[in-house]
Amino acid sequence: MRDNHYAVSHFGRLRRGRRGHDQIGLDALNLAGYDTSLFKELIKVDMPTGFRAMSLDDGAALGKEAFESQDWLVHVLEEELLHVIQKAQGLAEEFGRGTALELESDVNEARKFPAPGS
Ligand SMILES: [Zn+2]
Repeated sequence: MRDNHYAVSHFGRLRRGRRGHDQIGLDALNLAGYDTSLFKELIKVDMPTGFRAMSLDDGAALGKEAFESQDWLVHVLEEELLHVIQKAQGLAEEFGRGTALELESDVNEARKFPAPGS
């Protein structure tokens, strides 16, 4: 797990380990006006086919499909960042009926980077 752990640098990029490989560029999200410093951790994990990412409290776990292309990566990171913002606002805490669905539809409305090919 540690090998796949990304640490957030002060420049709004995420960097893998100490060697600086596999940087994840957050420039597209920064340019779109997002505060990407809200991401505290991004982890690369094995995920079943069809799953690109999973939300964490202050970041996300990313499967290899998230890295299929730069467009997909930006799309996935935007979605996860919007979820982090929801959590920071306390929205995800109120787990009433339909809340998860509402959170997803709010993300869909807010996103600036639709899924490639959609
Ligand atoms: Zn979502």
